[in-house]
Amino acid sequence: MFIGIDLGGTNIKGGLVNSEGIILEEKDIPTEVQGGVDHVLSRMADVIRSLVKSAGKIPIRGAGIGCPGQINVKRGIYHQGPNFPGWDGVPIVFELEKRVGIPIVIDNDANLAALGEFAYGGGKGVSGMILVTLGTGVGGGIILDGELFHGVSDAAGEIGHTSIHMEGPVCACGRRGCLEAYVGTKGILNRMQRKLADGSKSVLSGKSGETITPKDIGMAAAGGDATAVEVLRETGDILGFGLANLANLLNIEKIVVGGGIANAGDFILKPAQDALDREALPVVREVCRVVKAELGNSAGLVGAARAAMIAFSNI
Ligand SMILES: [Zn+2]
Repeated sequence: MFIGIDLGGTNIKGGLVNSEGIILEEKDIPTEVQGGVDHVLSRMADVIRSLVKSAGKIPIRGAGIGCPGQINVKRGIYHQGPNFPGWDGVPIVFELEKRVGIPIVIDNDANLAALGEFAYGGGKGVSGMILVTLGTGVGGGIILDGELFHGVSDAAGEIGHTSIHMEGPVCACGRRGCLEAYVGTKGILNRMQRKLADGSKSVLSGKSGETITPKDIGMAAAGGDATAVEVLRETGDILGFGLANLANLLNIEKIVVGGGIANAGDFILKPAQDALDREALPVVREVCRVVKAELGNSAGLVGAARAAMIAFSNI
C-alpha cells in the first residue's frame, strides 16, 4: 500500500491507496500556510504518520506528494508557486523522509492528477493522453508512451498558456490569447455576461453577473436553458480548437477533461470533440477522443500514490 498527499493552499488531503487505486482511508486537515514552512511540513508528516498507523500491519512502501507550483522532481525541491510564500528552495523530500522514515516522491499536483486519471480514470488503457483541468486556471499534465512527461525543467504541461490567438484577450500570465483566457472560469463567465448584456434570455438573467458560477451555467444548460447551452457550446468549440493543436503535436489517444465545468458533460465535451475532428489532421483525429475525467477531486491524491508506486516498487 502507498500514501498519496495532495498539498493545497487551504487543505492537506492524504489517503491510503492500494495498487488498484482505491482509497482505503482518507485524512483532511487545514494546511495553515501562515504558520510557516516547518509548521506545514510537520502537519504533512502528521497526516502520513496517522495513515501509516491506520494501515496497521500492512507495510507502506512510500508516499507521493502533489504540490501546486513549480517542483524540481528529481531533487525533491519546491520552487515558487502561488499561496506558498517562503517555500522557494524547500527540500520537501529530504525534510519529510527525515520526519516519517518512509521514501517520499514529489511532483506538481496537475501532473499527478494526470497520472491518476491515466492509471485509474478517464485515461485507463491508453499509452498517450493529456489531462486538461478547467477551473480559474487551466492546468494539465501529459502522459507519453505510458509515462509522465516532465520536460527539462519539470515545467511541461502548461496547456492553459498555449495561445490560440496572437491578439486575443490578455491572460493572467500576461500573454495574449492563451487557452486559459477563453475556457478558464473568467472566460466562460465573460461569455455568459456578454450574452445577457446583449439581451439573450436565460434563467440566469435575474442574477447579477458577479454571482453567476460555471456550475450555474452547467445546471441551467441541463435544465434546457438555450443561452447556457450556447455558452457551453462556444466554450467547447474553442477548447477543441486548442486541443487540436495539442493532438497534432503529440498524437495522443485521449484528452481527459476535468474541473467543475467538465460536469456539464456533453454540453462542452461534444463541441470540443467536434472542433477537434474539424481542426486536427486526419491521422491524428482518427484516434483521439475527448472524454470526461473520472476521479474528480481525488485525482491528485490517487496520482500521488501512483507516483510512489512507480518510484518505490515494480508495479
Ligand atoms: Zn497565459
